[in-house]
Amino acid sequence: MPVREVSRLPELNEILETSDSNRLIIVDFFANWCGPCRMISPAFERMSMEFGNATFLKVNTDLARDVVMRYSISAMPTFLFFKNKQQVDSVRGANESAIISTIRKHYSSTPANPNAASDEEKKFLERFVGYTELRKMHTDEVFKALARSVMPDGISDRLESGEDEKKVLQELLDWFKNDFFAWFDRPTCPKCTLKCTTEGLNGTPTKEEKDGGAGRVEVYICDGCNSEMRFPRYNDPSKLLQTCTGRCGEWANCFGLILSAAGLENRFVLDTTDHVWNEVYLKKEQRWIHVDPCENTMDRPLLYTRGWKKQLKYCIAYGHDHVADVTWRYVFDSKKLVAEERNEVRQGVLENFLGKLNARQMAGATEERKRELAVRRVCELMEMMVLEAKNQRIGWEKLGEDMGGRTTASVNAHAVILRLSGYKLQNS
Ligand SMILES: [Zn+2]
Repeated sequence: MPVREVSRLPELNEILETSDSNRLIIVDFFANWCGPCRMISPAFERMSMEFGNATFLKVNTDLARDVVMRYSISAMPTFLFFKNKQQVDSVRGANESAIISTIRKHYSSTPANPNAASDEEKKFLERFVGYTELRKMHTDEVFKALARSVMPDGISDRLESGEDEKKVLQELLDWFKNDFFAWFDRPTCPKCTLKCTTEGLNGTPTKEEKDGGAGRVEVYICDGCNSEMRFPRYNDPSKLLQTCTGRCGEWANCFGLILSAAGLENRFVLDTTDHVWNEVYLKKEQRWIHVDPCENTMDRPLLYTRGWKKQLKYCIAYGHDHVADVTWRYVFDSKKLVAEERNEVRQGVLENFLGKLNARQMAGATEERKRELAVRRVCELMEMMVLEAKNQRIGWEKLGEDMGGRTTASVNAHAVILRLSGYKLQNS
């Protein structure tokens, strides 16, 4: 890993707090005007490449005054060594051999926790955290009421009275795609009615756009009259009930709120290759199914890898109180994918990370709900095994138009596990 510059004390504390207890952290306190500092800098960079299980940081003493004060740095360069949140050593001056021998003294090449994420893995995993916040908005009672005010009447009543979930879900999908939400590709200029042909540029959201939850905005320039058109990428699903437009991110986000408002338990699925969709839990069939509002389709999980020839790698599903890696449902051979193609993060590290995220998500859940989620998790594992066996038996070539989904080979695992565990759901 290259040397990373730390500019404030909280940033350094965060690194010290979250690093594996076996990981050595070396901080170079330097100044731009200091000759010896400049001289040792390339050697420090080289060390950062050589010692993979150590973190190399640098602090500009003219800028990060709080860090300098905290560690009473009085000479440049100074090197401080930390392990397990504690300072363990220091070296003063641009003495390369002293720095290396001090590293060797404290360095261990393996982490204490083999499933602890490396810096690169942490960076990759960071993107998975934010979506748990999004899911909170889907269960907001005010947002759900807003959603019900635009939805076709009586949807939740019909579901409550026991009408077929898939039938109602299909109606919702039809309505959403045909009558409610629009796909946004490029804008059309309101003055000269020309459709934009150039790519959108990255702009800074205005205050109003930020209030609507836009993290970024695309700016388009009209080819005809040079006027500017903006497309804020809103993350707030209640805002999307008004704008009714977007790409797959906005579609799945807004549809997630619609599903929650209808009373259908759902997940928001993010794939790291940049497509998102939904999943719905069918109470009668006791399983999660794939739902894609952009495509107006359901229960065709192999649509992306077979239909679109897309390579999916990490499909993470966000329920309102849990997280799951559901990649297996959307690829043909998940064993092979995990073993050979997924190399951004080690499998054990990913599971460890999702386990922690899950624990946090489930913190407020009742014991009964936790048990239900545990049963469903086992069911999904069994479903995965059945699916893999089926795919292997048929083979990729012969799958034809089969896009996965319900198979006759599926077992009603849910009921079996409930019976085995002696646990009864109230309504079963
Ligand atoms: Zn124009």
